[in-house]
Amino acid sequence: MIATILPAMSAGIPLSCQRGTTVVHDYGSILDKIPVMRVLLINDTQEAQLAINGSYQITGSLTNIIDQGQGLQKSKISVSNGGINIGNKRYDNSELRITGMRDGAIELNNIRYRGEIRILQQFNNKFSVIEEVDIESFISGVLGSEMPQTWNEDALRAQAVTARTYAMYKKKVRGNEGYHLDMLDLAYRGMSSESPRLNKIVQDTKGVVMVYDWNIFPAYFHSTCGGHTEDVGSVFGKDSMPPLSGVVCNYCNNSKYSRWSTDISKSEIEKRLREAKVYVSNISTVKAIDPGAGKHGSRVKIVSANGNKEMNANDFRLIVGPNYLYSTAFDSKNNGKSITFSGRGWGHGVGLCQYGAQAMAEKGFQWAAILKYYYPKIELVRVY
Ligand SMILES: [Zn+2]
Repeated sequence: MIATILPAMSAGIPLSCQRGTTVVHDYGSILDKIPVMRVLLINDTQEAQLAINGSYQITGSLTNIIDQGQGLQKSKISVSNGGINIGNKRYDNSELRITGMRDGAIELNNIRYRGEIRILQQFNNKFSVIEEVDIESFISGVLGSEMPQTWNEDALRAQAVTARTYAMYKKKVRGNEGYHLDMLDLAYRGMSSESPRLNKIVQDTKGVVMVYDWNIFPAYFHSTCGGHTEDVGSVFGKDSMPPLSGVVCNYCNNSKYSRWSTDISKSEIEKRLREAKVYVSNISTVKAIDPGAGKHGSRVKIVSANGNKEMNANDFRLIVGPNYLYSTAFDSKNNGKSITFSGRGWGHGVGLCQYGAQAMAEKGFQWAAILKYYYPKIELVRVY
């Protein structure tokens, strides 16, 4: 994959082509075909609904066709006695691969998908569903779920390259595992948020990814940084690197999440922590401590009747709820039954600041310039 090929390429002089004001190193055919992503759509479930428009084929874990048909009405998928049931048909297979003959033929839980799906048995009559889809179609689906579709084209192009880079990184890291991405990695609802405009915007940057030191990297992004993006090391405990070490951002001031204040009841915080198997009672304070470059706390200290507890701040934010506690760049005030959190930004703060990217695009910055601002020292490379 890319990381194994790029170091060898970097010795040569890259071909370059002008795209706006920015150079994209064009390696055209470094990959001979568009990468296929394996995306975990559903996990550990007992029931899902499947419909297929038009002709389809079903194969097992081998490639021999075990069934085919012309359209399938909405049918229940379930697992029993070691077999997979679809509607009133039963297949004595541990895995089924369903291929529709045209794009968007497969509808799973009322969402249409371009790719083919695999149903895999798990324990206790449960199953997972994985889609295999080419990365460009996948990014078209992600784009409209991760950024408002009406935003500036260059903000959307920057977001497309960011998501593509992140997806390619995950594919490299997870390699031969069952899937490369799950629903926590990138928001994705098949074709439901695609539009001709978004598909065109994805096409504009087809095959372009960011590399640092000729390696692909996890191109994190978030909604609003609140003034300075954060160092990946202090949020995720990963090795810091120049593209992910944080930059000043004076562009997201207009985001409504730039400054916020919210009141969360202590019992709610305690309940959510308990659900995550963190046990505290009678909290008196929650402090964000050990701030990183962007002043987001890397850890939180929870002072409670049963002692002090420290944990990763981003984990704490996700446990309390990312739609309640917007970021870990907060001050807090004890109000008796509740705690008032006052903070900056929404999200973990690492990498591209989406509201900042939108403001830069509105000021006339092109997508590549936006990416080079938020991910310092990167190169843009077209790999297919
Ligand atoms: Zn920002």
